[in-house]
Amino acid sequence: MSAPDLRRGACPTLLDPMATGDGLLARLVPARGAFSPAELAGLARAAEQRGNGVVEVTARGSFQIRGLTPASSAALAADAAALGIEPRAGVPVETGPLAGLDPSEIDDGSRLARSIAEGAARAGLGDRLGPKVSVVVDGGGAVPLAASLADVRLDAAGHGQWRLGLAGTRAMASPLAVISADEAEGRVFALLGIVASLGRAARGRDLLAGDAPRPPRGSPPEASPLPVGAIPLRGGAAACRLVLPFGQVSASALGTLAEEAGLLGLRDIRLSPGHAVLLIGEAALAEPVRALGRRLGFVADADDPRLRVSACAGAPACASAHLDTKRLVGALAALMAPGSATVHLSGCAKRCAEPKAAVRAVGTDAGRVSLDGAELSGADAVPAILDALRTHPASRRGRAA
Ligand code: SF4
Repeated sequence: MSAPDLRRGACPTLLDPMATGDGLLARLVPARGAFSPAELAGLARAAEQRGNGVVEVTARGSFQIRGLTPASSAALAADAAALGIEPRAGVPVETGPLAGLDPSEIDDGSRLARSIAEGAARAGLGDRLGPKVSVVVDGGGAVPLAASLADVRLDAAGHGQWRLGLAGTRAMASPLAVISADEAEGRVFALLGIVASLGRAARGRDLLAGDAPRPPRGSPPEASPLPVGAIPLRGGAAACRLVLPFGQVSASALGTLAEEAGLLGLRDIRLSPGHAVLLIGEAALAEPVRALGRRLGFVADADDPRLRVSACAGAPACASAHLDTKRLVGALAALMAPGSATVHLSGCAKRCAEPKAAVRAVGTDAGRVSLDGAELSGADAVPAILDALRTHPASRRGRAA
């Protein structure tokens, strides 16, 4: 294993974890796109033993283990290998977690994504492109990758056609062409080849000339909420989508979820965009799994106020943070009214990946909370944020709905 990677912009992996405020962070996506219940249970138990007991699923749907040391992260990588978990490597080519299973998808992007990933590996593009360069092949459906940023993206347009775009989410990428699946692979390779020729710091946005087609101006539209609970699949199956509150959960709770899902007879567990897991099996198992998730503290209901609250990593996970953001948003969610507007809390002025939210508050250097120009103590911030939420027009609309 190399020394812990401290470069901004680098992607942590099991073998190259990244230093954070609470130790090393390792990230992984299974190469086959799913864990068996036994694999995920084993990985969660290993994370419990090797890390600080906190695991996460990111907004893009990657699995993260926190609080590792150089020795324990090497042991965790060995644990994962012993469980038969092969991490995805090379250029990330992502497709929706339910591709090929979801009757509501526009097109199944899994074959196209696989052939792009295999071609990129044969061409050695993984070594020539920067670690953050990614391709999204989004077939739509119940759990799309519409909100995932990509350097190059293909969005299903129906009738076997794909919209090729550069640098953005589905709504904000610059549109290039509508092409067939047969053409898509070559066009994506050509674009990746040009990005690679510009060096490892280059990204898809560097290919946009001054007169390139641009997406609509203004803020990106708020992404539609992803479903929570049962999602019908082809062949009498269903997925139960459970969200990790504020993106994280105890490794112990995840281990128990995976073990009990295995006992119930579920087939596989996939990582979902939006900080969630999808447990897949016979349709009749979806509600028992949902009840299990609820009992273990996962978000299992669409009206759970925890879905309306988000926070960056915060203290102690991020060394730059001035606030324990997760603790503060937990306190807020417990007091929020049904139908409330959304709120996001950033632990410092960098405001990393701050989503569009009705109310946004930020931790200050003095360990206080900045809200609408006022600086408040943590204790005063909770009632002030609740007040801002109560009077926000989006809350009034939510109450009327
Ligand atoms: S906004 Fe600040 S505290 Fe939050 S993750 Fe980014 S750097 Fe860390």
